[in-house]
Amino acid sequence: MEKYLECKDNKTRKFWEIKVTGSLYTIRYGRIGTHGRTVTKECTSDTQALAEAKKKLASKINKQYYEVPVQVSPTKAQKSLAKKKQKNSSVIESQKIVFREFRCETKTREYKFWNIAVNNTSQIVHYGSVGKKGQKKEKQFTSSEQVVTSIEKLIQQKIAKGYIEIPSQLLKHKRSCWFPITKKKKDSCTASKFGGTPWLSRDEKWPRCGECYHLLHFFMQINLAKLPPKLQRQYGDGLLQLFCCTNENNEDPCESWEPFSTAHLVRVITPTGETWNNIDDAKKIEDMEDWEFEEEDSIGEFPTRTIVDWEKLTEFPSEEDIICELNLKLITDASKMGAFPFGSDKLGGWPHWTQNGEYTDCSKCDKQMQLLFQLDSHDNIPYSFGDRGCGHITQCPEHKEMVAFGWASH
Ligand SMILES: [Zn+2]
Ligand SMILES: [Zn+2]
Repeated sequence: MEKYLECKDNKTRKFWEIKVTGSLYTIRYGRIGTHGRTVTKECTSDTQALAEAKKKLASKINKQYYEVPVQVSPTKAQKSLAKKKQKNSSVIESQKIVFREFRCETKTREYKFWNIAVNNTSQIVHYGSVGKKGQKKEKQFTSSEQVVTSIEKLIQQKIAKGYIEIPSQLLKHKRSCWFPITKKKKDSCTASKFGGTPWLSRDEKWPRCGECYHLLHFFMQINLAKLPPKLQRQYGDGLLQLFCCTNENNEDPCESWEPFSTAHLVRVITPTGETWNNIDDAKKIEDMEDWEFEEEDSIGEFPTRTIVDWEKLTEFPSEEDIICELNLKLITDASKMGAFPFGSDKLGGWPHWTQNGEYTDCSKCDKQMQLLFQLDSHDNIPYSFGDRGCGHITQCPEHKEMVAFGWASH
């Protein structure tokens, strides 16, 4: 059963529609010319759904609604609406209001974001604190003109409240970044994780520092082949691993912060062949005579945090990258708008620099490497790079196996 009713008088012009599909019935109602609201109810049986729908229909007819044949009215209206939509979507694009983002500083020196996006005749508003997930609200309109009017009104309201718009030149440089969602759980040696047990070939020993010869700490590994579907192959495949020297008792500290330093090991490997049954065996030295220092009992390890999922967010470049990398001269102060990248552990996106931007060039092709993973102090790994520093694993956009690591502190 499908019935479409209208009610028109001097005051109102509304419609009411009911559709029965099996044990479900859906009612759509609202002002004529709008999409209206939709309510769906599930009944215990098909006959009950039909009976309830008939009852609702009768009560509407009592309230001065009259039936309009379904084939004529809504389908015709929908067809002309679809045409209108097509015509107007190009108008919207040319007006560049597909996506606009605003920022506002709060009294506590935090930042709020508010952005608006258009998808045909729906308006999607996303808002919250910068660095947090925020909330999304979607609203449907019947025409593009209506969306435009609504958006303009909302934007004016935000500007009146002190919100500053992210300039359109910067909007183009918005990037997605992915936050690891971690859990304490039993995992395999090829799982994406922070701390715990890495995958290590039976043919190799646990990596040691090239400067102080102590065992390196295992920081993290990411199984690039098992990233969210959208990201698969973007960073190649294989296992990305990071080991780093944490020996700070040295009078002459190991220079683990420097890209290509021997005090850390960053690499992409293909985990094939045999692995160690007992990973501690990989740390043992067979012939102690070659060693100038007393072997430590155990370096200990960081607690395992297995990456079980990824959460996507978008971010803008830092002021440093806006000036040095993008060569943009912004009229508004980007740092004041909170247009900075996230400082936590993340995959992709824009780097959060603690000092100057430090991109590394690929040693194969000289191309500038791009951020692959940002590793912060005390996020998923209970360790501080110097004074709350931040580390970056970068990757050549051409040669996915070429990776580098560096960190800088305050
Ligand atoms: Zn060292
Ligand atoms: Zn390269």
